[in-house]
Amino acid sequence: MSHHTDYCILGAGLAGLSIADSLADHDFSTIVIDKSDIAAGASGTPGGLVNPATGRRAKKVWKVEQGYEAIASNLEKVQQTTEETFYTNNGVLRPALMEKMARKMKEEYQQTSWPKGWCQWKREGEIKEMHPGINCVDGGLWIPVGLTVDVGKYLQAYASYLKGKNDTIFLLDEEPIKIEHNNRWHIELTSTTVRTQNLIFATGQSIATSFYWDWLPFNLIKGQVAEFKIETGTLNFDHSISSLGYMARLTDNVSFIQGSTYEHDFTHINTDQQGEEYLRKRMRRTLPNLEKHVRTVSQWAGVRTSTPNYKPILGRHPVHDSLHLFGGLGSKGLLFSKYLADHYVEYLIGNTELFPEIDIARHQLNPA
Ligand SMILES: Cc1cc2nc3c(=O)[nH]c(=O)nc-3n(C[C@H](O)[C@H](O)[C@H](O)COP(=O)(O)OP(=O)(O)OC[C@H]3O[C@@H](n4cnc5c(N)ncnc54)[C@H](O)[C@@H]3O)c2cc1C
Repeated sequence: MSHHTDYCILGAGLAGLSIADSLADHDFSTIVIDKSDIAAGASGTPGGLVNPATGRRAKKVWKVEQGYEAIASNLEKVQQTTEETFYTNNGVLRPALMEKMARKMKEEYQQTSWPKGWCQWKREGEIKEMHPGINCVDGGLWIPVGLTVDVGKYLQAYASYLKGKNDTIFLLDEEPIKIEHNNRWHIELTSTTVRTQNLIFATGQSIATSFYWDWLPFNLIKGQVAEFKIETGTLNFDHSISSLGYMARLTDNVSFIQGSTYEHDFTHINTDQQGEEYLRKRMRRTLPNLEKHVRTVSQWAGVRTSTPNYKPILGRHPVHDSLHLFGGLGSKGLLFSKYLADHYVEYLIGNTELFPEIDIARHQLNPA
């Protein structure tokens, strides 16, 4: 038995599912193959933020208005299909932990044009009032529109939605044994063969070592997250926090995720004790008293794929016109996934040019 489709997508993470959805909007037939499972890669994070102000200076993210609108409406669309809540609109607090950090954040805030109601500068006293016990020097940012998402649960619900939408087929636990191009793409799997007009790689960190894409300048950064639960009482705040790494508030009043991507040289991709200690140390810097009263419930590790200009890479392979890439989502997978999937499909059907900042054409296969 074999499958015949317009598009075959390798990878069932934020990139793969978003592009499958956008293609289905234009009635293309799609098949999604994952060597493991839905959200098995970086997108399996049990708590991620949609945070429009990132980095130490809290800089406004590239194309953030469009990215935010796309992910917010997509989360709402998918949430309506399931009883299980996978995201909350609880805001993100960005306390400055040092004077220099506060100065830079404030400067950046004053020079930036933020949409109304997205971002407010708060003085130290105001931040401490919002969040008793937090470490804050001179002030920080309050981002009321920040979202907190259980990305793994979102993608599980998204896959169910896609199966119903356009009969999108999912082949899980299947790694291509052979990929050949002869008029169409022939993808040989253990149990079946897929014949497709177009092939899209949305394979996250594996892109960096792929035969077709290993010439691109990806940087891999490992991160760890842990779920913590307070021993007694309930948490005295209901927002998430972005300071040293991030703290994603879960909905049960007693648990949160502390996470950070920080390991540029790593020898394995599993969780470890140093990871847990590192996260606890970071928690102590932001919330000095909380760390003593929480126990670790679970731990998770993932690798994010970054690029020299910190923007994703999308486009056609320079040799194979029908071979496509959607990768390098970096630390902003949620903000970029749906917006850039829609943008790429508009490009495929000939309505738009790709934004130069993300176009694969900015890199050369064989630089002179
Ligand atoms: C610790 C951590 C915290 C993060 N926090 C946030 C956050 O708060 N907010 C945010 O927006 N982003 C966050 N990110 C970044 C975000 O997770 C990524 O940008 C995003 O998940 C990347 O999605 P992707 O679909 O490109 O890759 P992935 O999610 O890695 O998906 C790739 C998929 O491809 C599959 N695959 C690989 N090779 C093959 C193959 N040969 N054939 C078939 N399938 C294959 C894998 O099994 C995997 O399922 C975080 C990342 C990490 C590591």
